[in-house]
Amino acid sequence: MVTRRKAMVLGAAGVGGVVLATGGAAVVANLDKPEPPSPAAVNGQGRMLWRNWSGIQTAYPAQRLAPGDEAELAAGLKTAVGPIRAVGAGHSFTALAATNGTLVSLDGLAGVVDWEGDTAVVRAGTRLGALGPALAAKGRAMANLPDINKQSVAGAISTATHGTGIGLPAIHGDVMALTLVTADGETVECDAGRRPEVFDAARVSLGALGIITQVKLRTTANRRLRRRVWIEPFEETLGKAEDRWKAHRNYEFYAIPFTGLAANITHDETDEPALAPPPSQDDAFLEALKMLRNTFGWSNGVRRSVAGLLLGGTEPETAVDEGWKLLSTERPVRFNEMEYHLPPETQLAALKEVQAVIEKERRDVFFPIEVRRIAADDAWLSPFGGGPRGSVAIHAWYKDDYAFFFELIEPILQRAGGRPHWGKLHSLKGQRLGALYPRWKDFLEVRRALDPKGRMLNPYLTGLFDLA
Ligand SMILES: Cc1cc2nc3c(=O)[nH]c(=O)nc-3n(C[C@H](O)[C@H](O)[C@H](O)COP(=O)(O)OP(=O)(O)OC[C@H]3O[C@@H](n4cnc5c(N)ncnc54)[C@H](O)[C@@H]3O)c2cc1C
Repeated sequence: MVTRRKAMVLGAAGVGGVVLATGGAAVVANLDKPEPPSPAAVNGQGRMLWRNWSGIQTAYPAQRLAPGDEAELAAGLKTAVGPIRAVGAGHSFTALAATNGTLVSLDGLAGVVDWEGDTAVVRAGTRLGALGPALAAKGRAMANLPDINKQSVAGAISTATHGTGIGLPAIHGDVMALTLVTADGETVECDAGRRPEVFDAARVSLGALGIITQVKLRTTANRRLRRRVWIEPFEETLGKAEDRWKAHRNYEFYAIPFTGLAANITHDETDEPALAPPPSQDDAFLEALKMLRNTFGWSNGVRRSVAGLLLGGTEPETAVDEGWKLLSTERPVRFNEMEYHLPPETQLAALKEVQAVIEKERRDVFFPIEVRRIAADDAWLSPFGGGPRGSVAIHAWYKDDYAFFFELIEPILQRAGGRPHWGKLHSLKGQRLGALYPRWKDFLEVRRALDPKGRMLNPYLTGLFDLA
């Protein structure tokens, strides 16, 4: 059976073929770029390449540590060459984990080690995807998940990784206690009662305080969720978004530039029996949007009309399963991303402005813009401190230019009162960042106390914290 989305891909390819045959090739040649150059797998000193998921951050660490337990980690850190940087799954877009000193992976420190009531004691290298079945075996689950589940627990909390839902905080909002090992090999345990200043600083700490080895994570009952995905006019989505955030456990939408459409996704608790989702067509969907760009990028009007014909009337998709199986999906198409977290009152107006400027200035963009809501928490460097936030995230295919994030988009998101996602691209540093966080100086004070020699700081963090 040909699904509607498959039909769209085939349709776009077919229409594209006709246009190519009639002289549209110049548009395709201009917009479809070659593979970006690959850095050497091994450098002149025999050091192996480290690269982030999207490929834009690279480094050649002099030393790599992959300890099997905390004692081995502590011993290794004492003599490690700086800068010492922890890496989880390498899914951050910024240079947070990059180092030519020592790269520390906690892949060997993974799994659920204990339970205290409904609180799970989890090793920090555990991947979110592995945590799902481990918690489900006890009838428990993480309350929420991001778009993907490849991240490590420590990597996710260190950058304030989040999902969507007005009643649901980012992952670090469910951290009740954590253990870290400092660059000097000292073990520090903290929670709201023990070393509370370290706890407040460490829940979102960009790997700048020490290596997090264990967290206590609040869990929730492992419920089945019903997912619904549908496409409708963008203006209709804008008008209904606030009500949908209130009505659904999880709600988000993707504004699709140059189409006048938005894709909406809800998740709600249900006792209905499991219903398998149709095979994911996300990569085919993106391929179709790229083909529309390549073929009709010369006219916003034609691009929009063809998109309407191909996508309009797409039937909603429904799936039912346990939340840990549904909330995250795969992202097979690589991209670069900027995401800002805005006060809810400015979120949708800023989104409209972002979409308008993309449609006016950047016909090469084809990725949808992701729009979510996140509940507040009180970690010092949490972008969700002081109240809930609404996020707006723009993406560029990994082969495409993303400089426009900084030139065109970031000023809009900053004017709207946004704080950047710590793991995604942004240009803020020092005082400008500090002005967004009332406890910025306190954070830097705790950082200095735990790492007085600055061994955890790579050039990116030195710039970010203005410590040069
Ligand atoms: C395809 C894709 C989808 C994404 N979807 C979402 C999403 O839906 N929501 C969202 O909020 N974000 C999302 N992100 C961003 C991602 O969740 C964050 O960048 C996250 O930090 C990545 O986790 P990681 O394990 O790869 O950590 P890394 O990127 O490897 O590291 C991130 C930070 O954590 C630190 N760190 C890692 N391990 C430790 C440790 N043991 N102790 C101390 N510090 C440590 C590192 O030093 C670094 O500062 C997405 C990214 C990609 C590529």
